[in-house]
Amino acid sequence: MSQPKINLETCIGCGTCEALCPEVFKLKEDMKAYVIEGVNYEDYQEKIQQAVESCPTQAITV
Ligand code: SF4
Repeated sequence: MSQPKINLETCIGCGTCEALCPEVFKLKEDMKAYVIEGVNYEDYQEKIQQAVESCPTQAITV
């Protein structure tokens, strides 16, 4: 699995992705979600997939 991407245009900063997988997603002060660099994304594949499916604006792609 490659690094997930977040569309900052559509992210509304709801925090769902961080709640589901804080090892990979982090909400910053600008209330946008960012993908933490240097993570072995394979290790969190299922949680990342859950975040993708739970994002209310479909802002996360893998
Ligand atoms: Fe943004 Fe989607 Fe994460 Fe919510 S779940 S913070 S809208 S990327």
